[in-house]
Amino acid sequence: MRVSLKEILPDAVGRNRVICGFNIFGYEDAVAVIEAAEEKKAPILLMVNRAMIDFMPPELCGPMLSGMTERSTTRIAVHLDHARDLDILERALKSDFTSVMYDGSKKSLRENIRLTVQARKLADLYGASLEGEVGTVPYSDLGETKVEMTEAAEAEEFVRKTGVDVLAVSVGNIHRLISPKARIDFNRLGEIEEAIPVPLVIHGVSGLPESDIRRLLSTGVAKFNIGTRLRTAFGKRLQNELRDNPAQFDRLQIMKSVIPAIKDAALNILSISGW
Ligand SMILES: [Zn+2]
Repeated sequence: MRVSLKEILPDAVGRNRVICGFNIFGYEDAVAVIEAAEEKKAPILLMVNRAMIDFMPPELCGPMLSGMTERSTTRIAVHLDHARDLDILERALKSDFTSVMYDGSKKSLRENIRLTVQARKLADLYGASLEGEVGTVPYSDLGETKVEMTEAAEAEEFVRKTGVDVLAVSVGNIHRLISPKARIDFNRLGEIEEAIPVPLVIHGVSGLPESDIRRLLSTGVAKFNIGTRLRTAFGKRLQNELRDNPAQFDRLQIMKSVIPAIKDAALNILSISGW
């Protein structure tokens, strides 16, 4: 069933579990993640990031993912991750996405607020949920070293002026780590949580140790973003399959062997996220 993020947030807030948003790069990942969510009876998000949008435009991936959610027994939001321009955000909203993130985190707070307010107006036209970001979560694979942790006072002003449904924060989390090397600053997280009335989002959950992930379940965090753990599961299984069966050339057979590995990774993440 296709829903917005707002409709599934109550399943997590105050319930010692966090809604998982999984980055999706094709039909196979979506099948695997939806099967895992149905098994766990967990509401989730299928998320499309900038790299995926460059690969497959929202007008194509939106209806595909949306159609898959409508055939599912669990509630699923189709989410655009890290949109940095309002044009892409509007194209996604017109293409059956039910939830969008406007990412103005690399701009000044004032400019971030101005553009996120415009994103709010667009999202409202389509009844979609909106995520914003204050502070910047670095990308490990791009060699980003500059970290601007989220300041509670800035987060409070941002949420009050933009009306976002959820806020992504930078509290030690790092994008695209392939081993769990990042650590959450729980003191800073607590200060932000006290300052704002909306649930928080942690990006880069693949790079956190399980102990930090479990500790986050009882905080004001209501959404996790997970990408790398599924991508590494996919890549490893694909490499093994081709190594073990070098004569195999049939795409459908190859993919049928890969889907269970992605599903297992998603089941594991859902379990440690409280589902
Ligand atoms: Zn992110």
